[in-house]
Amino acid sequence: MRRLILSLSLLVFSTSVVAAQQYDLVLEGGHVIDPESGLDAVRNVGIRDGKIARVSSEALSGRRVVRAGGLVVAPGFIDLHQHGQDMASQRVKALDGVTTALELEIGAPDVAQFLKSKEGHSLIHYGTSASHVAARAAVFGAPLPPEIIGGKGGSPEILPKSGPATDLPATPEQIEAIGQRLRSELDAGGLAVGMGIQYTPGATRLEVIDMFRLAAERGLPVYTHVRSAGRVEPGSAVESISEVIGAAAITGAALHIVHINSSCLRDSLECLAMVEGARARGLDVTTEAYPYIAGMTAVNSALFNPGWREKLGIDYGDLVLPDTGEHLTKERFDELHKSNATRWVLVFANTQEIVDKVIPHPLVMIASDGAEGHPRNAGTYSRVLAQYVREKGTVTLMDAIRKMSLMPAEMLERSTPTAWQKGRLQEGADADIVVFDAATISDRSTFQKPMEPSVGVRYLVVGGAVVVDEGKIVPDVFPGRALLGPGKVSSGTGR
Ligand SMILES: [Zn+2]
Repeated sequence: MRRLILSLSLLVFSTSVVAAQQYDLVLEGGHVIDPESGLDAVRNVGIRDGKIARVSSEALSGRRVVRAGGLVVAPGFIDLHQHGQDMASQRVKALDGVTTALELEIGAPDVAQFLKSKEGHSLIHYGTSASHVAARAAVFGAPLPPEIIGGKGGSPEILPKSGPATDLPATPEQIEAIGQRLRSELDAGGLAVGMGIQYTPGATRLEVIDMFRLAAERGLPVYTHVRSAGRVEPGSAVESISEVIGAAAITGAALHIVHINSSCLRDSLECLAMVEGARARGLDVTTEAYPYIAGMTAVNSALFNPGWREKLGIDYGDLVLPDTGEHLTKERFDELHKSNATRWVLVFANTQEIVDKVIPHPLVMIASDGAEGHPRNAGTYSRVLAQYVREKGTVTLMDAIRKMSLMPAEMLERSTPTAWQKGRLQEGADADIVVFDAATISDRSTFQKPMEPSVGVRYLVVGGAVVVDEGKIVPDVFPGRALLGPGKVSSGTGR
């Protein structure tokens, strides 16, 4: 059906092109890669009114012509998992090739406020899930601040401090109230239900199933950070993956398991086999990973409730404050964990060997889990292209682009039909395009300098507007638009 729509719009475009033959922008002579059609050839790309109007080997004329010879021209990268939604983060994302960055893992505490805060001044496209974590905190009387503030350097406050709102089971009345709150957040334009189950350990299995039911009623997916990591039973990573796959099977909701690398650690390949098995039985289960051995999270969150060292197989010294490089001690950890102030901490819990096996896996999409303080915010996409495509040779260029654009776009189709026009370098698709030098593209961000922008992205086009020009951010151009869930357009229909 989708192909048919694209073909029909192609036909319409082709006819109008003959009449006009002038594009707003032409990307000339680049190495065009489109994972859906398999196109991998030198082509000219004509862009008009924010859409890809023509992909052709014939010469095209445009008001502006960018010479893309020797460069890769691909669908812009779609990051399903981006927490840092401030301008500084958007700029480094753009220089990393990202044209859409969505807060889907946990979700903004207030969807309407989030959308309002970004409208008209967003460099790249944005959107959010409805947050179960925030709905639960609100019902327990510990609401999160709605604005994108707090945290270090504009990192959003999306995680509550560990306490009754995270650790206690909810009564049936409270579960009902959490559901009501989530429904209204979906009505405001939420793209999915976001569940950080590890951050709400008080949520019972039944509460989790109820939230999956709610998502299924709306025909929307659940994005989840699963309940636990590690091998200690009960509460292993394998049990945690089983819980959410079970909830998806029971309710029919589509399920996206975030950062399988850092949730499953040494058992990542087993967890991927579980996802593969669920899919083989017809369940709609997908997953993602980021290419780093450390994670980052709030040190006062419930993730660090007693037992975390045993579960993760790490100690206090494996926790590092990103701004100072300080390795924590027991005393320092206790002080920070008790504090009401959110401090982000790097968590060195994985090995390079595991990450190197996870990234090439055919079911794994790339998603950054980015926020200021961790190099993944600025470097995830270039790092995959540099390390796995160019240096290790374990991922082909086509597959890397598939993991970064087409696969996340297909996932997003569960939330909004407009995603059919993203993640594709085809006539009729949105003109969200990255143009990069495959020979030099590299991440530059490190744990010491996490906001160092990547190099090698020469141009980035967002909705037809050039936001990165000859490797530099174009000032005062904000073409980013919201991706909205169906609730926004069919509010109150209770479908
Ligand atoms: Zn997470």
